[in-house]
Order: sequence, then C-alpha cells, then structure tokens
Amino acid sequence: MDETPPSPLPFPTSLCHRCAAPPKYVRTKTSTFILCPLLPQKYAPQPVLQCPLFRPRSPEPEAK
Ligand code: SF4
Repeated sequence: MDETPPSPLPFPTSLCHRCAAPPKYVRTKTSTFILCPLLPQKYAPQPVLQCPLFRPRSPEPEAK
C-alpha cells in the first residue's frame, strides 16, 4: 500500500487521484484499488466523479 500513483492509473477520471485525503493505492496481482482514508467504507465506488470530502491536493501537480 502506498501513496504513489501506480501506472497505469486505475480509473484515470477519478477525483481521488487529485485529492488531498490522500488516497492509498492497494495493489493486488490483477488490479489496483483506491483506498480512501476519510470514508467509513474505505473504498468508494470508482470512478469517483463527485465527492463531498474532496479537497484539492496542494500544490496541484498539473497546475503549471
Ligand atoms: S475524499 Fe473522496 S475524492 Fe478524496 S480520496 Fe476519498 S473518496 Fe476520493
């Protein structure tokens, strides 16, 4: 489990990748799951396109 985004990124459109939560990436042999430290159920249905707990990560890596 770690916070480094895997490649290829699972659910590239997910908000979680840009969230300051920060999400953890849980890898198995066949897939990667996104574990949210803020949600009680831990695994949000992916891709997360809207989330009440979302906070943009700062600094934004893409914001150049
Ligand atoms: S707070 Fe929402 S957007 Fe952020 S990692 Fe958790 S589920 Fe994803």
